[in-house]
Amino acid sequence: MKGAWSWAQYTQRPMNLFTPLIEFLLPTLCMVCEKAQNKLLCVNCLAQIKERSFMQKHLCAVCGIPIAAHESTCKTCLENPPNFDATFYIDSYDGVLQTAMHALKYQKRLACATGFAYLWNHSAGMVNSESSIDFLLPVPLNQQKLADRGFNQSWEIAKNLELSEKIRRVPNALLRRNNEISQVGRDKANRKKAVHGQFYIHEIWSKQFENKSIVLFDDVMTTGSTMNTIASLLKNHGARYVSAWVILRTLPKFSQCAI
Ligand SMILES: [Zn+2]
Ligand SMILES: [Zn+2]
Repeated sequence: MKGAWSWAQYTQRPMNLFTPLIEFLLPTLCMVCEKAQNKLLCVNCLAQIKERSFMQKHLCAVCGIPIAAHESTCKTCLENPPNFDATFYIDSYDGVLQTAMHALKYQKRLACATGFAYLWNHSAGMVNSESSIDFLLPVPLNQQKLADRGFNQSWEIAKNLELSEKIRRVPNALLRRNNEISQVGRDKANRKKAVHGQFYIHEIWSKQFENKSIVLFDDVMTTGSTMNTIASLLKNHGARYVSAWVILRTLPKFSQCAI
């Protein structure tokens, strides 16, 4: 593993006090249209994304894929329910936010994390203030990837969400083993195998999730295998309800659930 690293440094909340002043003094680029202005997301792009947001569409209540108006749950979730109970996301992976997500993860443009949180706060007010939720846990990177990247993009977004006071966000309860192989390019069956056994709960937290409602927060949901595996882990530790919140979701062709 490269470099020294500490949770204390990692979990500090950003100083939001000066954000309005910085935005006023330092023009930036909108993370979607890249026009110069003073917000991370310009008014036009915010309005367009909110309008087409998947928060406004008729989706499977469990896995979040679009379904017919008369249905509440997709066929796959009815026949073979995943371990998580609900899914919320802003946009599909192939939409206008993909470039900004790549800029955050691969070019380390951390301002995009604040932009995604801002977008989430303006698109998902109802789920943010859900009073039955107890914990929000970001999906972890393994230590090697965390050291290489320098940050967990899911936590960088999650720590800027405007949540109900009651929801406790915990960045270090879920952990991920180092010996995994990248999921990029894997098909559904291989992803399921690859994520099995990768995740575990820090011993300090092992008894804290009994009968709790938990949000798993991630930047991108592809097949749902990662969410499914962690939800199974949490439910084996007594969690009552697990919902998946993600910024972008890859939607399966022909609206078939891919979990
Ligand atoms: Zn814009
Ligand atoms: Zn479904």
